[in-house]
Amino acid sequence: MRFYYTMKQGWRHRRALTAFLKPSHQLKHVNQLSPNQLDFMSIKALSLDFDGVLAPHGEVAPLPEIEIWLHGLLQTWSGQVFILSNKPFDEREAYLRAHFPKITFIKHVAKKPYPDGLNQIRKLAHCRSEEVLMVDDRLLTGMLAAMISGSQGLWIHPAVRKHGWHRHELFFAFLRKLDRCLVGVFNH
Ligand SMILES: [Mg+2]
Repeated sequence: MRFYYTMKQGWRHRRALTAFLKPSHQLKHVNQLSPNQLDFMSIKALSLDFDGVLAPHGEVAPLPEIEIWLHGLLQTWSGQVFILSNKPFDEREAYLRAHFPKITFIKHVAKKPYPDGLNQIRKLAHCRSEEVLMVDDRLLTGMLAAMISGSQGLWIHPAVRKHGWHRHELFFAFLRKLDRCLVGVFNH
């Protein structure tokens, strides 16, 4: 079961997870990430979470400013871009296929923190696991999957709607807080 797997692996990787709490391992918005930075980190495959990274939870399309960033990245960066979401809705896949045909949408894999999605990305990009970067707003899903698969990780502060927080956003803010608390507990 995913919950027990998360607790077991979270405990095992507690030190690495704690490192993400340092500002140097965090980004406020994914569009602060540049092709130069990806090259500096020796990244060949960029794996992006959807909810909380590209858009607020449940949206079909990325935020407009994120779309601008994605278009620029796809034009200038030599690596491959993947979407690895625990909610790989068909509507999202259809939207991305229509607007971002270069992006590969990962489906039919065990949800993060299982490393299956990142392992598939490594195979598709023909690179080593440490050349894969997972960008995610959750420590105990995306960042933990990165640690288990031997990939790199960047922890993101969530994208929120400009006009205040919706109730389900508060729920996900609570989950992120719970992640931090559990990582704290693992270290005591
Ligand atoms: Mg997320």
